[in-house]
Amino acid sequence: MLSITFLGTSGSVPTIERSMPAIALKYDRELLLWDCGECTQRQMMKYRIGYGSIDAVFFSHPHLDHYLGIFGLMETLKISATYHRKIKVYAAEDLAESVREKYEFVDASALKKGATYKGSGFEVEAFPVKHCRGAYGFVFQENDRIKFHEEKAHSLGLHGRLFAEIQQKGHVAVGGKKIALEDVSWVKKGLKVVYSGDTLPCDSLLEAAKEADLLICEGTLDASMKKEAEERMHCTMEDAAQLAKKADVKQLAIMHISPRYSDAAELKKFEEPVRKIFKNTAFAHDGMKIELK
Ligand SMILES: [Zn+2]
Ligand SMILES: [Zn+2]
Repeated sequence: MLSITFLGTSGSVPTIERSMPAIALKYDRELLLWDCGECTQRQMMKYRIGYGSIDAVFFSHPHLDHYLGIFGLMETLKISATYHRKIKVYAAEDLAESVREKYEFVDASALKKGATYKGSGFEVEAFPVKHCRGAYGFVFQENDRIKFHEEKAHSLGLHGRLFAEIQQKGHVAVGGKKIALEDVSWVKKGLKVVYSGDTLPCDSLLEAAKEADLLICEGTLDASMKKEAEERMHCTMEDAAQLAKKADVKQLAIMHISPRYSDAAELKKFEEPVRKIFKNTAFAHDGMKIELK
């Protein structure tokens, strides 16, 4: 199961309700962070994400609102006597360098397009977006998995080690009869979750998001502020919904919401027009959790 917790959902500056951008992804035993804005460690405590088990941190781009929290978090880990884990960090080169030189338990690399991190049963890929130099979005792609039609498999005589054998060879012989893997199994497509980082709407994001189970997209401003959003290289909430629709994703979560909408009732006004474009839209709030199977 993949569990996604929104640790911070504001953009540029925090509000009382919203902390700076950070998303925790937990898949089996692995824990990843997408961005690590100011106060992320405190948000992790609050929403019960144990930071002692972080495997990798990915920075969408080197703007302070997205990375300031890494230093506080790393300092806390450094003074924890029990801390022996290596943490992988992927960031724009200068940021990777400054984290690398401060913390010897960090293995930091410069981000580039393509496969970035191989986890157990999934990988994370980076793709360039349009915001600033070194701005990337990320795709979490779970491996496809073979699932058996258990009853049919048993009725044909498959048991025990034969399940492993048929997956290796594509077929096995039982009592002189050949059973092909595709006769007794089906392929469960791996989950796909995409994070835009900060960006203008762009083709690379659209391409990456194709048929994702979940698109996490920034939606800094509302449609009436399209011009300002463009000048600041951001999406509007409507842009996010259009992207979700065009990419045919299953679910959209909008984050990086400007502090100008700190009044929740005020934000509500913008939800309906956005859902008219793409129905299955969540406006993320700090602590929101999405679980995917
Ligand atoms: Zn930002
Ligand atoms: Zn930015």
